[in-house]
Amino acid sequence: MFNRLLEFVWTRHSHYEIVEPCGFTGDDGKRWEFGRRIITTAESGDEYYPLKRYPDLYRVFANVKSEQALFEFVGHYGPLTDEGLTRSSAKPHFTSSVLLMNGRKLAEFVYVPGDQIDRCLKEAAWCAHILRYHAKKSPQLQALIQELGVKSPLCAMDIEADPVDGVRMSLRPKCLLDALKLQLLDSISRGVNTFACDACDNLFSRKSGAKYCSDKCKDDYNNARRRVANRKGL
Ligand SMILES: [Zn+2]
Repeated sequence: MFNRLLEFVWTRHSHYEIVEPCGFTGDDGKRWEFGRRIITTAESGDEYYPLKRYPDLYRVFANVKSEQALFEFVGHYGPLTDEGLTRSSAKPHFTSSVLLMNGRKLAEFVYVPGDQIDRCLKEAAWCAHILRYHAKKSPQLQALIQELGVKSPLCAMDIEADPVDGVRMSLRPKCLLDALKLQLLDSISRGVNTFACDACDNLFSRKSGAKYCSDKCKDDYNNARRRVANRKGL
């Protein structure tokens, strides 16, 4: 129905780096602090279709557990957020205001270019929780999904007249992070199962009852068991 979600376009750049925390004071005197971020200094990047090209990208993201892994993920697939797409040398920070009907300012938000590492790692952990709860058929899954619904919407919906189909409906996520969450929810709703590897705990798609994500993990696990058995003199 919403197959145009696959046509979500994102950008990846040739170069990223990690920058230290910073802080800014907004027009209203409010102080904003930002932790370590992954930024791009590249002038431009290559556009591609992440969801079409990588149908399991949500699982790759859910396996991101460290700053280094996140940095590699961004290097491969592009930044996760809008702020991550913003070139860092252009603006040290930028603001956005929510205005009332009469033009009075209701709230002001300060952004800095770059993906905030803490926030992105939390989002990856959240995706992993959902997949684990789903694998275990845990009742906590419902609560997590509900929490997602009350947070900000994951996408806009476009309805267009189409000369061939009559009408065209498409979901339009605003950034790769939201697109990945939609991909994850779509995979769950289609009954795609994800399991945690017995050896390394990475999430993977199980074929014919496999317990390990790779042959290497299977070997590692068996070797470790053998070592323990030898030590016990069994
Ligand atoms: Zn493994």
